[in-house]
Amino acid sequence: MMLKLYNTLTRRIENFEPINPPKVGIYSCGPTVYDYTHIGHLRKYVGDDILRRILEINGYEVKHVMNITDVGHLVSDEDAGEDKMEKGARESGKSVWEAAKFFEDYFWKSVETVNTKRPNIVAKATEHIKEQIKLIHRLEKNGFIYQTTHAIYFDISKFADYSKLSGQKLEEKEIGAREDVFVDKQKKNPQDFALWFFTVGHFKDHTMRWPSPWGEGFPGWHIECSAMSMEYLGDSFDIHTGGIDHIPVHHPNEIAQSEGASGKPFVKYWVHHNFLIVDGEKMSKSKKNFYKIDEIVKKGFDPLALRYLFLTAHWRDKLNFTWKSLEAAQNALDNLREIIRDWDELKIGCAQYEQDFMEALNNDLNTPQALAVLWDMVKSDYPSSAKAKSILEMDKVLGLKLEEYLGKKIEVPAEVQKLVNQREQARKSGDFKKSDELRKKIKKLGYGIEDTPEGPRIKATSSHS
Ligand code: AMP
Ligand code: ZN
Repeated sequence: MMLKLYNTLTRRIENFEPINPPKVGIYSCGPTVYDYTHIGHLRKYVGDDILRRILEINGYEVKHVMNITDVGHLVSDEDAGEDKMEKGARESGKSVWEAAKFFEDYFWKSVETVNTKRPNIVAKATEHIKEQIKLIHRLEKNGFIYQTTHAIYFDISKFADYSKLSGQKLEEKEIGAREDVFVDKQKKNPQDFALWFFTVGHFKDHTMRWPSPWGEGFPGWHIECSAMSMEYLGDSFDIHTGGIDHIPVHHPNEIAQSEGASGKPFVKYWVHHNFLIVDGEKMSKSKKNFYKIDEIVKKGFDPLALRYLFLTAHWRDKLNFTWKSLEAAQNALDNLREIIRDWDELKIGCAQYEQDFMEALNNDLNTPQALAVLWDMVKSDYPSSAKAKSILEMDKVLGLKLEEYLGKKIEVPAEVQKLVNQREQARKSGDFKKSDELRKKIKKLGYGIEDTPEGPRIKATSSHS
């Protein structure tokens, strides 16, 4: 069974054939740590995690590298305006270094709640200044750079294949230069991008700064990803991921820098995750339509219900976030947990379902289809001992921590059992007001009741339901 994956570079679903099997190198564009991580970001990092787990379950040895952007990412893509880190520090009343640490910690806390595996290597831009300077040197030797008063730029007119990823002609490329932000008038082409900014003029007060052969300053955003991915994965590697917002600018810039320096193909498969949206618009800080994981938890949801919700959509489709959809995901997950609590010990698995499950995932990471297979199996007549073995296998990819529920029948405290018995009495005698009140009391203690023909069934509940 071969893994098939959509590649933005070729605009096709392709057979996945790594450069150096069984090794697979993945580089994921990570967060800019100037503000809180929101659940839109989490969709992207869960997407990366699913991809990694699918590669692993296929037997590949994955080396997953992710960057932390803590310098040089300017507010506008056209290398204008101020560094997001300086802005974040100003707005949060912290120093740039404190802000970077604070928001990075928040990022890790957030991604851990949705059970993503830590990348094997986490690379911070500020800890790889030497590597970035080395790469700019290689580009200088190959004739791709020029210098203005404010910065060193990559001259994209010298790189013939600039449009191969985005498919956009240069003249179609949006130039969003706004009047309220700084624009370097000495740039040759508006789309040229900065590799190194000098701490002069517009950037004279920039806090983070390092010496370089061209003058004191700080690196541009794009160069960090080329420098660090090539440092840890080599000049050519297998998979590069990011959000679809990186298709027009950030990733073409990475390709230009890396291939301009090495003369070799940079990345074989480009994976771009679609967005989490709200009312038709991307969830983002600037639109103020975002939620943080704390807000999800405060409303009584389990972060893993959010992970479940992400799994219900294909990674290349938009996913519209609503509280109703999160509630449906929480209910589905609660249901699944309840069902598997009663399952017997593991024996031999359900081969056919496991195969269908893998087929769905290997078909361009089709997680909604994989979930459908899981539910078909759960509802099937197979012995629960067989289903138990298979569901744990499936959960290696889904990451819903089902092992914490499998076969763990709930021990109902005597106090709760007493209330359940009283409620049953009340119900039988037609006192529905009292029975409702008792149900509420039981819920407060963390339990739910389902009335079945065999009598009341007690469930552990999450507090939102
Ligand atoms: P940022 O820190 O804003 O640069 O975003 C980090 C990553 O999260 C990028 O790859 C973005 O594409 C991705 N991202 C940001 N907002 C969303 C969203 N609403 N849905 C999915 N991914 C997002
Ligand atoms: Zn990047």
